[in-house]
Amino acid sequence: MRLSGIVLNITLLAGLAFGGSQSNYDPDQNIWTLSNGWIRTSFQLTPEGFFLTQQISDLQSGDTWAASPNRPTSPVRLQADSDLFDAQTRFFLVAQYAESVNPGGIRQFIVLQDVKGPAQITVILDLYDNHPVLRYSLKYKNLTAAATHVTWINMVPWTFDDLGKRYTAFRVNQWSVVARPEDFQTQQSLLDTSGSGVEVYSGSAGRQCGWLALRDSEQRGLFTGWEFDGQTKTAVRQDGSKGYVQFSSTVLNLNHPVEPYGEFQVPNTFIGLFHGDWDEAGYRTQRFVESVLAKPAPDAKSFPYVSWDSWGYQDKIDEQTLRRNADIAANLGVQLFTVDLGWARGIGDWHADPAKFPNGLDALSDYVHSLGMKFGLHFALAEADASSQVLRDNPDWSATDDANYFGAKSLCLSNQPAQEWLIREAIRMIDEYHVDWILQDGQNMVKQCTKTTHTHDPADSNYSNAVNGINAVVSAIQKARPNVFWENCENGGNMMTFNMAKNYVTSITNDASGSLAARRAVYGATYPFPPRYAERYMPESDGFTPYATHSYRFGGPWVLMTRLPDLHTDQVAFLKDQIQNYKNQRTDISVGKVFHILPPAANATDAIQSYNEATDTAIAVVTRAAASGPTYLFRPKGLKAQQRYTVWFEIDPAVYSQSGAQLMSNGFRVMLPKPYSSEVVHIEPQQ
Ligand SMILES: [Zn+2]
Repeated sequence: MRLSGIVLNITLLAGLAFGGSQSNYDPDQNIWTLSNGWIRTSFQLTPEGFFLTQQISDLQSGDTWAASPNRPTSPVRLQADSDLFDAQTRFFLVAQYAESVNPGGIRQFIVLQDVKGPAQITVILDLYDNHPVLRYSLKYKNLTAAATHVTWINMVPWTFDDLGKRYTAFRVNQWSVVARPEDFQTQQSLLDTSGSGVEVYSGSAGRQCGWLALRDSEQRGLFTGWEFDGQTKTAVRQDGSKGYVQFSSTVLNLNHPVEPYGEFQVPNTFIGLFHGDWDEAGYRTQRFVESVLAKPAPDAKSFPYVSWDSWGYQDKIDEQTLRRNADIAANLGVQLFTVDLGWARGIGDWHADPAKFPNGLDALSDYVHSLGMKFGLHFALAEADASSQVLRDNPDWSATDDANYFGAKSLCLSNQPAQEWLIREAIRMIDEYHVDWILQDGQNMVKQCTKTTHTHDPADSNYSNAVNGINAVVSAIQKARPNVFWENCENGGNMMTFNMAKNYVTSITNDASGSLAARRAVYGATYPFPPRYAERYMPESDGFTPYATHSYRFGGPWVLMTRLPDLHTDQVAFLKDQIQNYKNQRTDISVGKVFHILPPAANATDAIQSYNEATDTAIAVVTRAAASGPTYLFRPKGLKAQQRYTVWFEIDPAVYSQSGAQLMSNGFRVMLPKPYSSEVVHIEPQQ
C-alpha cells in the first residue's frame, strides 16, 4: 500500500461523508473514531493511561461489537523479553497523525510510549472506502540500550461483549501434502460457553486457510484474516460466565531480535463485519482482498488464464514434444504454456538440460511466444539437490528442515548469502529463458532452520523464513522483474494466506487430484479467497466429458495436463469449445458473489453459483457424482425478486422465464440423467 503522504485535516464526526474514510481525534478525551460509512470503530487512551478498544459497529445493519465491561481489551498485545504490553500497560501519547492511503482510505497512527520507558508502540489503523473492514498493525520500538526479543504477539487482539448469545465459528482447511478428502473442507462449530474454543493452524504446512469467521444466531458476524505466511495459531473462544468472546492469533515459535532503537512490525491483520450467512462473510472478505490486498491480475479481461502444463509427461520432456503440444495448445485457445519440473539440469541447478533442449530453452520460449502464448516455468526456489553446484560449493546453505522434495534438500531462504545467490539466479533464469510466469513449487515454503551459522536467529526460524525468507526473496525478484507473474504452489495450496494473495496472482488448490477434488477445493477456497485464487490442475485421467470439464468451469486458472498430440480430432473440438465457454464466463465469476449451494461428495450432487451484481446475471455449475437422483431442484440465490429472468442450460435445451422471486423460492429442475453428469446454468435478466 502506498502512502500519498497527504496529512488530512481531521474534521468532526458531523462532517463525515458517506463512502469516504475519516478519522476523528478528540483531544479532550483521547478518543479516536474511524469511520467510512460502513463501519465505525473507536479507541481510547484512558485518563489512567490504558489504550483500549471501545467498539466496532456496522453502520448499515446496526450491529455493534463492544468491548466487554468484564474484560478490557487493547489492540496492543505484544511481549518483548519479560515486558508484556497489553490492556494493563500504562502509556502516554507521543504523537498521533493520519494519512490518506491507496486505494482510497485513511491510515491513523497513534504513537504511545510505555510510562516505564522500555518501548514505544505505534498503533496503525486503516480503513478503506466502501469496505466494512478495519486493517490493523502494531510497531514495537526498542528504547533500551540492549537488544530485545519479541517472543509473543497477538495479531487478532479483539475481545467483545458476548451479549449473552451463542456463537458459531467457521473455518476452511487448506491442502495437505498427503491428499485427503478433508482438503478444503469447511468446518462449522458452535462455541461452547466454557471457553474451550476453536483453533485455526494456518500458514505454510498448516492445516487451515488463514481466515476465521464468527456469527451469532441473529446473523451478526465478523471475520478476520492475517497477512503472514509462516505458521500461526489462531483461536476464538467464549467465556459465558464472564460474558465475552475473545480472539487470539500468535506467530508460532516467535523469537525475533530487535536491536536498540530498532523496530519490529507485527504482520497486518484485518477484522470485518457482516450480517448474514457465511457466503456474505466470504463475499465481504473477497471484495476487500481484491481491492486492497491482492496482487492485481495480469489482465482482468483475460484472466484467469487457460493454461497447459507439461506434468502429463512428468519429467520426460524435450523440445520436440513440447513444440508439438504448443502447436495444439495455441489452437485450443490456451494462453499460458508452462514447462513443469524436469526442464533444468537438476533441482537447484536452474540451467536448461542441454540433452532435452539442444537449441536452448529460450528457443522453445520464443516459439511459444510466436504462437501468441505466455511462457511459464517451474521454479522450486527453496529446494536444491545435494549434487547441485550450489550445495556442493556451499553445503551449509541447506536448512535443517528435510522436506525431501523429489529427493532434494531444503535451502534456508533467510540466510543472506543463499538469498542473494537465489535472487541473482532467478533474474538470470527469467532473462535467459524469456519467462512471463513462474510456477513456484516445492514443499513447505517456510523452512525450519535452527542453524547457528546462518544470518537469522536460530530460534526465530518460523518468522525469519517467512518474512525475511520466502517473502524477501520473492519480493526482490518481483521488484527486479515486475512483469513476471507468480503462481503459488507448494505441491498444492498449502500456504493459503492473505500474505500469499499479496504476492501471487493465483494459487493452486488441489494438485491434479481429479474432478471431485477440484470441485471440493473450489467450494472451500472460495469462502476466504476470490475465485481466481482457486486454481485447478486437470489431469489426463479425468477424460474428456462435460462432467470433467464442467468440474473446472468455476474458479481460478484452468490448467490442462493433457498430452495433447494423443487427442482425437473430436476431443480437440470438444476441448476447444469448453475452453471458449470457460473464457466467456470467467470474468463474471471472478467479480461475482459466490453462493455455496451444496458441497461436493463422492455419492452426492453438488452445486455452486455466482451472482454478478453489475450485470444482474448468475452462473451455476451443478454436478452429479455417483448420486442416484436424475434431477436436482435448484434454487438460485441473490437474484432481484421483481426482475424477470431467462434461464438456459449448456446441455438441456429447456428455457425458463420467471421472476427472481419465483426462481429463488420454487427453484427449477436441472437434468442430471446419469451418474457423473453435469450442467451449467445461466440466468440472465430480460429487458
Ligand atoms: Zn537457516
